[in-house]
Amino acid sequence: MASSTSYSSPPCAACKFLRRKCLPGCIFAPYFPPEEPQKFANVHKIFGASNVSKLLNEILPHQREDAVNSLAYEAEARLKDPVYGCVGAISVLQRQVLHLQKELDATNADLMRYTGSEASYLNQMSAQFGRMGREGGSFNLNSGYPGTYSSRWNNDSNSPENGGDGIM
Ligand SMILES: [Zn+2]
Repeated sequence: MASSTSYSSPPCAACKFLRRKCLPGCIFAPYFPPEEPQKFANVHKIFGASNVSKLLNEILPHQREDAVNSLAYEAEARLKDPVYGCVGAISVLQRQVLHLQKELDATNADLMRYTGSEASYLNQMSAQFGRMGREGGSFNLNSGYPGTYSSRWNNDSNSPENGGDGIM
């Protein structure tokens, strides 16, 4: 497995991709290991290497790993779904949350019907969950996107909108 051409550590994925020498202190090296070449390729394609290096230099070192992970996620999502990018995944998840919220409310209502004595407790719980749900999302994507939007993200979620799951 070892490379016979060099005894020093291999260049980071960024420098290898850009065909340049990976010098000590390379801004990309800690976040783009040579074992993950696709990570840099995606980020470079979507954001551009120089923009990424500028961004990394502008933020504190302890924030860089999170920033790179975020860029890598966004870039991969944008390549998969050129129209909506990660917003596609977010809106699918938001709709799932709304759907599950309705299911939870319906189940709580059923429970209340069956256990009248504990009604006040369930009321409290339901109010709490309702509040969490409403405050959870600071922006509502559902208003601006078509309800029937379907992308590759939907293939993973395995939750057909009209799948006849019987929940009213
Ligand atoms: Zn490098």
